[in-house]
Amino acid sequence: MPIKVLNPQVVSRIAAGEVVERPASVVKELVENSLDAGSSQISIEARGGGVSLIRVTDNGAGIPSGEVGLAFDRYATSKVSSLEDLESISSLGFRGEALPSIAAVAQVDMVTCVSGEPAGTYLGLKDGAIANRGSQGRSQGTTVIVRNLFRKIPARLKFLKSVATENGHIANVVSQYALAFPEVKFSLSIDGRVALRTPGSGRLIDSIIEVYGVKVAGHMIEIEGEAKALLPQVAGMVGSPSTSRSGRGQLSFFVNRRWVNSRLLARAVEEAYHGLLMSGKHPIAVINIWLPTQEVDVNIHPTKSEVKFRNEHLVFSAVHRAVRQALVEKMPVPRIEEVAVAYESPSRQVFPSPTQARLASPAPWASEVPTSPLPVLRVLGQLDNSYIIAEGPDGLYLIDQHAAHERVLFENIERQRLRQEIEIQGLLEPMMLEVSPRQGEVLRSHYEDLAEFGFSIEPFGDRTFLVRAVPALVYRKDWVGMLRELLDSLAEGGKSDWVEGIAKSIACHGAVRAGQTLTDTEMHELVRQLEQSATPRTCPHGRPTMIHLSSGQLKKEFGRT
Ligand code: ADP
Ligand code: MG
Repeated sequence: MPIKVLNPQVVSRIAAGEVVERPASVVKELVENSLDAGSSQISIEARGGGVSLIRVTDNGAGIPSGEVGLAFDRYATSKVSSLEDLESISSLGFRGEALPSIAAVAQVDMVTCVSGEPAGTYLGLKDGAIANRGSQGRSQGTTVIVRNLFRKIPARLKFLKSVATENGHIANVVSQYALAFPEVKFSLSIDGRVALRTPGSGRLIDSIIEVYGVKVAGHMIEIEGEAKALLPQVAGMVGSPSTSRSGRGQLSFFVNRRWVNSRLLARAVEEAYHGLLMSGKHPIAVINIWLPTQEVDVNIHPTKSEVKFRNEHLVFSAVHRAVRQALVEKMPVPRIEEVAVAYESPSRQVFPSPTQARLASPAPWASEVPTSPLPVLRVLGQLDNSYIIAEGPDGLYLIDQHAAHERVLFENIERQRLRQEIEIQGLLEPMMLEVSPRQGEVLRSHYEDLAEFGFSIEPFGDRTFLVRAVPALVYRKDWVGMLRELLDSLAEGGKSDWVEGIAKSIACHGAVRAGQTLTDTEMHELVRQLEQSATPRTCPHGRPTMIHLSSGQLKKEFGRT
């Protein structure tokens, strides 16, 4: 055959082969585009292993109607424009290849809308060329629909594995991005089933719960780099050695938030576990590495899944050190039952663990009920606008939202008071407070206690006082009623009664009520804070904050043994 230049269609199909290896590659490219567009919500739908349909919908910036067609031109990108830009890439995409490559091997439709435009733009492509164009209503963001992937390339179709395998690859891609971007709400549906849904709370642990389950999440240890100014920064979570798996592949690495495969990094982590894992076991880890964009070359492969570090040794040792340090320092303290057993055996000496020490000397008013810390919980939903339903490693939890919030606020308030960090809200106009003679007497001797919590009150007349500021938590609540209640109920109380009483009262008035709808994010926030609490299982008044049904109890209820 004589030498000749290939026609554009052949060129684009060859090039597409490099970017679009399998359906999961399409998902990866589309999700990356959604993330680059600043989306806070990304829904992914796949059917037939991603061959029949892939649909990615986001609420990102969208594409202006004048530029939509250009997005499908090869090497058309809004993310880099000069050679210098290539040196410091902060977006996930930059090659301008994904959309044209996908359009070369599938049928693609796009609807996109930027804020300010009256309607969205619709674009339909066939064989890589624009076949239809119109306007279509939609809110800000972009939807890309990919149908019949590789339908015209039988060789490629044959190379694909079973639907289940391709689904697995798709779920993995979305899981990785869910771990890398905990602040984004992801939802993945595969053949109509919800395969993954993350709350977008911004906390890595919430994504880990959804990807690996509550049991694993409960055994994750946080890692932190050393001094904040030093680069590379390493952050994330690693599994305690007891949660290891027999297969590799539970290692996720993100370099400046880009999901990368790296043997170098995998080795750094595996070596950090040296001596802690049984042979044949592999750790679970989610590791974020931050370093100056000039220190890493992301432009070495069309799929951008591999990177090259300028100083490999530096990155290796930063990751190794961070993981090792976390494992050694933060290995979970022995459980209370284990300690108790150890105490019974006379031959061994046991020193109290930090958990125990805390249990031994609780805050004075936290002593009412024996307590144990809460495991990591996965929020499932809200019941009756009053209870949060959650799953733990050991069964079901039904959490009373008001009581739980009261507990959390109570501990926050006490902590803030001790550090003199109570948030105060000044009143626009001082407010006159009229009280009974007896209330007046009590108030006069407790200005200071109230001031510690943010009430700024001064005498104005015999039975009149001026309130100039109140704790921010109760600013919009009935704080006048609350003050009167305190003055009556604590008339005889001493300093510690007052401190405790005021904290309880602010917590109670500031907490969410029963009957209040909570968003997913609010529920996650509340549950996370409750997990941090020293006495999560009771409210400050001693009432239970939750009902726990263990897996054993559930089985018994259902008559299974
Ligand atoms: P790249 O991501 O490398 O720039 P792509 O072919 O993936 O190349 O996308 C081309 C361009 O289309 C992007 O640079 C961006 O401007 C625009 N684009 C693609 N997807 C989206 C999206 N979901 N939201 C907003 N803009 C998008
Ligand atoms: Mg892209």
